[in-house]
Amino acid sequence: MELEVLTIGTELLLGLTIDTNAAHIARTLAPLGARVVRKSTVGDDRDAIRSALTDALARAGFVLATGGLGPTRDDVTKTAIAEVFRAPLELDHELLAALERRFAAFRRGPMPPSNRSQAEVPRGAVVLPNRLGTAPGLWLDGGPGTAVLLPGVPFEMRALLADQVVPRLRDRIGAASAGTSVRWRTLRTTGIAESALASAVGDVEHALAPVTLAYLPGWEGVDLRFTVWGLPAPEADDAMGRAVARVTPILGAHHYGEGEQDLAALVLERVRARGLRLAVAESCTGGLLGGRLTAVPGASDVFAGGVIAYEDAAKVRDLEVPPRMLAEHGAVSETVAAAMAEGAARRFATGAAIAVTGIAGPAGGTRDKPVGTVCLGVTVHGKVRTVRTRLHGDREEIRHRSAQAGLNLLRLALQEETAAP
Ligand code: AMP
Ligand code: MG
Repeated sequence: MELEVLTIGTELLLGLTIDTNAAHIARTLAPLGARVVRKSTVGDDRDAIRSALTDALARAGFVLATGGLGPTRDDVTKTAIAEVFRAPLELDHELLAALERRFAAFRRGPMPPSNRSQAEVPRGAVVLPNRLGTAPGLWLDGGPGTAVLLPGVPFEMRALLADQVVPRLRDRIGAASAGTSVRWRTLRTTGIAESALASAVGDVEHALAPVTLAYLPGWEGVDLRFTVWGLPAPEADDAMGRAVARVTPILGAHHYGEGEQDLAALVLERVRARGLRLAVAESCTGGLLGGRLTAVPGASDVFAGGVIAYEDAAKVRDLEVPPRMLAEHGAVSETVAAAMAEGAARRFATGAAIAVTGIAGPAGGTRDKPVGTVCLGVTVHGKVRTVRTRLHGDREEIRHRSAQAGLNLLRLALQEETAAP
């Protein structure tokens, strides 16, 4: 089954609001075997909405639209769809009563007349009740095809999609395409550039068909997404299993997880499994590393704490980095990163520690140490490991990549320790 997604809102065209609805819809529907073949966006303009709906229905026969269902003047989606389906808007008395009850319950006084328009429904449309807001969704089946309209507010849209749309689609698809499916898996890598990864995988990619491969770089690393469309489920699973098994060894130690796996959560898990606790010493990341670690539920039994040692004096005072070492090697050096990690481990009495020191820019770079130069140190059971690397991007990106690189260095150190006799 194929469909188009149409997101409606002038704020989306202006880029003031990021269109998260279209992405959420596509992600939600793909596993059902509903293939989003086109996404488009139009502003709050009746003619533009009408023609976008008409075109999408003509191409795919099914359109799922969000936005423009509110009570204000700029919300004209319902009028547009009524024109496309030649279905006049009629007051739905049940809906009106529900709206009035909702207003009474929230004690907002009498319902403003503009809200009455939300109880108007194109003749023949199925009302999808919205328990989180005033604008219900609508499902229309008719000559032009099927149109599903959902409110634009993301949490209302998500609830309606899950509660009302997915079950109806499942029924429809179950009947239509008996068991064909979409499968995808994502392998997560870090510490290797997209281009290096692509050349390592090389021609193997052709041998993976019908599974296709996509490289998705971000500041956490590069994700490899494997996708297979339209095969019967057992064949899809089989092809997917073979493709992943073929590529995984190529990724080597860069591969750290699958799906939504968070590197901080993985590192905490490994530290916990070794019976250790963890501390951090942060310069250029200024707390991002601690933030990543404490974002993980249950971090408290493993993560002891950290020091944000930004100026040199703080590195000396709080982490016992020798002043001479700072003068000799500079704050951004592997030697200092090692001393910071050891200082944090001592201070928090932990068996493991991560330290990050680097130049996030835009200023402060030199010929020897250009912007993006980052030194990382980790210690596990008193054994220190350091790395000097060069990260790309703007200040924000370099800081996030530094935190990820610090976590990754500890992951590798723990892995090496486990592998050693
Ligand atoms: P509407 O249903 O058009 O009144 O939209 C209400 C609010 O939902 C808008 O002001 C936006 O903040 C948000 N919104 C609408 N469409 C989207 C979208 N496609 N993605 C994310 N947010 C949206
Ligand atoms: Mg709107």
